[in-house]
Amino acid sequence: MSNFGKNTMLNFDDAFEIVMSSARRLGAERVGIENALNRILAEDVISDIDLPPFNKSAMDGFACRRVDLTNELTVIETIAAGLPPKKTIGQNQCAKIMTGAVVPAGADCVIMVEYTEKVGRNKNRFTADETDDNICLKGEDVKKGDVVLRAGCKIAAQHIAVLATVGCIKPLVSLQPKVGVIATGNELVEPAFKPAPGQIRNSNGFQLAAHVINAAAIATNYGIAADTKEATDAKIKKAIAQNDVVILSGGVSEGDYDIVKNILKENNVKLLFEKVAVKPGRPMVFGICNEAFCFGLPGNPVSTFVMFELLVKPFLYKMMGHDFKPAVSYRQLEKSIKRKKIERDSWMPAKFKENNKVAKIEYHGSAHINALCGADGLICIPAGVAEIKKGDSVAVRQI
Ligand code: AMP
Ligand code: MG
Repeated sequence: MSNFGKNTMLNFDDAFEIVMSSARRLGAERVGIENALNRILAEDVISDIDLPPFNKSAMDGFACRRVDLTNELTVIETIAAGLPPKKTIGQNQCAKIMTGAVVPAGADCVIMVEYTEKVGRNKNRFTADETDDNICLKGEDVKKGDVVLRAGCKIAAQHIAVLATVGCIKPLVSLQPKVGVIATGNELVEPAFKPAPGQIRNSNGFQLAAHVINAAAIATNYGIAADTKEATDAKIKKAIAQNDVVILSGGVSEGDYDIVKNILKENNVKLLFEKVAVKPGRPMVFGICNEAFCFGLPGNPVSTFVMFELLVKPFLYKMMGHDFKPAVSYRQLEKSIKRKKIERDSWMPAKFKENNKVAKIEYHGSAHINALCGADGLICIPAGVAEIKKGDSVAVRQI
């Protein structure tokens, strides 16, 4: 594994590669289907039955033979969902049938009740010119033995439905990374307090815990570490001992009180990089200590957000075997964006507009977390590029 010098600013792709190739795959556990939402499936799931399990009526109506559609039909039984039919449909016969019921032998279509009329006791006539079959054929969706869900999928409501359908009530899911979050900074107070002059509230601790939970991992908030060796060291030691991953915010730049990198090193954390060519987010530390991984994110809340999104989130998912791909929407830029310094990828908040357009929203820089609340996503001017022109197609990474 490469070890880059303190002053090397990695391009994003190199940093991403280092982070992702370091990820350690966690084990797995079985959970009840009721607790499986948002977890990552750890094995392929196979169907134990055909779906549909039988030829099933898609409509309320009458099951009959297509060749008899122009004739009067005699109703020979009524078939409700849940009970198999007793009779076979013969010439000029039909069975009244409900949606979801088993189509009787002999029938090859179901005519909708809306397109029939009664023409005598137990006699019916088809009133339309044509009809679909209205039969869902046994096994047309899934065959017994088919893989219905793949390992690595993040379980959403539709996957829960499929698990239930195939009787997988205790799916095997990846263990969740335990993630400790530490906010550093002498100026920080917890959100319950009114900041005194010079103080600000610790938003990153809560922001990061929220990101971690969204990424299907488990967050523990270790609160604020003052910018002293003792306070920071104590929290780092505790968090490393208790978690798979530790995320620190603040204290990783070049200021007098930016002591996090040194304290990580003193705790045997091998730092693999310390700077990434991303704006906001240049000071960004990643290191490994035995089984634990440490991320030191810059303290400004938008930098914290962007670096979590770009590097930490895919890493946490990889630990669970999930290949995270951001949702990206391609839109036309409403107004040109220019910049002078071009050495970093520059991410900024953007909002969807009418007619498939997108516009950068008012954004004062990396402390302006409120700007993200009105944003649909982030757009990026890649390193080396000075301008994206009005009308250009841009990728909006949805947040
Ligand atoms: P630092 O990375 O420690 O130099 O901090 C950069 C900026 O982010 C400073 O203005 C800090 O006050 C601010 N900041 C640091 N940590 C937090 C936090 N936990 N919540 C909100 N803002 C923070
Ligand atoms: Mg600080």
